[in-house]
Amino acid sequence: MPYHIFFRRIRRRIRQKSLNHKEYLLQRESARTLVMERLIYFVGEYAKLDPILAQFMKYNHVSIRNQRRRWGSCSSKKNLNFNYRILTLSPELRDYIIVHELCHLKELHHGKTFWDLVERIIPDGQALNMKVRHIKFQ
Ligand SMILES: [Zn+2]
Repeated sequence: MPYHIFFRRIRRRIRQKSLNHKEYLLQRESARTLVMERLIYFVGEYAKLDPILAQFMKYNHVSIRNQRRRWGSCSSKKNLNFNYRILTLSPELRDYIIVHELCHLKELHHGKTFWDLVERIIPDGQALNMKVRHIKFQ
């Protein structure tokens, strides 16, 4: 099945709240594959800009969870956490969330240095942040 049709079906089922546990686990794995792929890609993009900067972007564990209120988080122990519903977002918003958490590995706050870092790769990062905040969780 083509990827975009697969994701469209999943998005619909998540909306309809009709995922059973086995399906949820499959979705979680799809989300994990996607998140890992993009994390590696964006660390590479930061490394192209500044190899020293990319040294700060080393994470320990990446968890994919079923969460009610958050798209992602980063802990002081450098563990990243993403909501499996990231699959339901547009590629642009998914990438923004992934870069957001990646940048917290270096700047664990939402100050100017954090946004400067995000916007080196996602120039409209703050606009996308506003967009993502208005998406309701299903
Ligand atoms: Zn944040």
